[in-house]
Amino acid sequence: MENVVIIGTGCAGLTAAIYTARANLNPVVLTGNLPGGLLTTTSVVENYPGFPEGVDGFELMERMQKQAERFGARLRYASVVDVDVTRRPLVLKLDEGTLESRSIIIASGAGHRRLGLESEDKLEKKGVTYCATCDGALPVFRNKPLVVVGGGDSACEEALYLTRFGSVVYLVHRRDQLRASKIMAQRALSHPKIKPVWDSVVTEILDVAQDQVTGVRLKHVKTGAEQVLACAGVFVAIGHVPNTAPFRGKIQMDPEGYIVPVRGTATNVEGIFAAGDCVDRVYRQAITAAGQGCAAAIECERYLSALAS
Ligand code: NAP
Repeated sequence: MENVVIIGTGCAGLTAAIYTARANLNPVVLTGNLPGGLLTTTSVVENYPGFPEGVDGFELMERMQKQAERFGARLRYASVVDVDVTRRPLVLKLDEGTLESRSIIIASGAGHRRLGLESEDKLEKKGVTYCATCDGALPVFRNKPLVVVGGGDSACEEALYLTRFGSVVYLVHRRDQLRASKIMAQRALSHPKIKPVWDSVVTEILDVAQDQVTGVRLKHVKTGAEQVLACAGVFVAIGHVPNTAPFRGKIQMDPEGYIVPVRGTATNVEGIFAAGDCVDRVYRQAITAAGQGCAAAIECERYLSALAS
């Protein structure tokens, strides 16, 4: 039986791994299907303290993993399918195998929100993507018009990154003002290759019949006017949804699926703690996730000490 199973290897999970490993709890850390978490798909992280020149997101996560492993954390490439919270020890059903544990730290993060269009599903990986850093350099996008959907920091970051490859980058946003931080908004809007398309939503991605992206059909939300914008790629950057499906109905969550902590990082289920993007709908930063991972590890350690005494 394990002392603690940590679900997720983003900033929250790996920080919890460092702390629980250093507390001699010998944690098992499940990577899920995106080892290193969402930060591995970003480019330079400029706001993580301690890196005045910025740090590559992938490198930052690699360093955190090494740090956790150095103290004995055991990484396992597996995902949680189900969890039995009614039994002690807690039982985790994985895609391969089962684990029993005295405690769990859920740091399963969040995934990309989708537009919810049928054409989006059909053209995914055929020009529709959720990660400019992963896919932006593909030949199919080179020197072609590209579309980024969204108005937050992610959309600005994606658009700026894509200016290296696309001939023009249309930033399609449903309002006439960006949600992004001032610095990111200013960088994006002052870039000569980025053209904002305000008050517009994507109603269809073209062209399913050709099995490739050739454009987007847009609707102006104020006038209802439609237009088709030719493009070779659609980069969707409209926020995230928490990865909490295996815990639905078992742990207290809000209607959008964010875990609701009852005290600090403790959930309503004894022995289960939660940290990072699966809990936090407000700050959602690498550093706040790391901080919550640290707090969850400390609370978990105290819980286990109390159990043992
Ligand atoms: P976000 O801040 O939640 O922004 C999501 C954007 O997508 C909003 O502009 C929203 O429009 C739009 N949107 C949501 N649902 C939509 C839909 N169904 N159709 C069309 N548009 C839709 O998400 P984010 O940009 O991913 O950022 C998440 C967090 O990470 C933020 O705290 C951000 O600061 C942080 N972050 C920071 C950096 C950085 O500092 N470099 C980079 C990336 C992310 P509305 O504005 O109308 O709501």
